[in-house]
Amino acid sequence: MSYLKSSALLPRVLMYHSISRQGDNDSLRASPERFEAQMLHLKRHNLRGVSMRELCRAMNTGDTRGLVGLTFDDGYEDFLSTALPMLETLGFSATVFVVAGMLGKENTWEHRGGPRLRSRLLGADGVREILERRMEIGSHTVTHPRLSGLEPEMLAREVDDSRQMLGEIVGTPVEGFSYPYGDLDGPAVRAVRSAGYDYAVATKKQVEYGIYDWPRTYVGEKDSPLMFGVKLKVSPILTRWRRSSLG
Ligand SMILES: [Zn+2]
Repeated sequence: MSYLKSSALLPRVLMYHSISRQGDNDSLRASPERFEAQMLHLKRHNLRGVSMRELCRAMNTGDTRGLVGLTFDDGYEDFLSTALPMLETLGFSATVFVVAGMLGKENTWEHRGGPRLRSRLLGADGVREILERRMEIGSHTVTHPRLSGLEPEMLAREVDDSRQMLGEIVGTPVEGFSYPYGDLDGPAVRAVRSAGYDYAVATKKQVEYGIYDWPRTYVGEKDSPLMFGVKLKVSPILTRWRRSSLG
């Protein structure tokens, strides 16, 4: 199967991080106004933003028409206060990938492209509330490291332990995984599959070109309605030129 063809078989998934006004030049943030405009764009075009779980179930029934996956990496507290009410109003759902060992803390990990403004991460109560409000919680490891080249024991800790830790918090099995920095290699993908996850989302780097390194389209503050519309149409891997500092 060719690179383009196999990726094109997977429904489109958008990747967000923080929805906040602070530091608008930060590529990991989209302002509430911009985010709302993008969600309304989906609605106007008869598209529905859905969690990865919902998207996977739709894939199993063979009908993903009109569905766009919505994902939020890192689990910032502003998802609960800002993004979630907008999603609920529109009847959308989303998946939030949280860093299991850092709940309630701040994003102190290394950021590609230099320092980032720090924001509060969701605590266990926030994670549970998101789940109760019909969103999906996925794992974004225990400590947010790069997974490629990691020692097997460390890899297992980040992949398996985060699933177990989050499963205990939410009381249901965690189905999805997101690679920090979109960084992955063969052992990382295999570790995610063997840990029992049903799918995993990546960014531009893929090794299997399947549901365990599902590519996503970066969207952010700079995506005007015009650019957002273009990104919805072209393949995620063709939008990689826009990506500068993903996390
Ligand atoms: Zn991240």
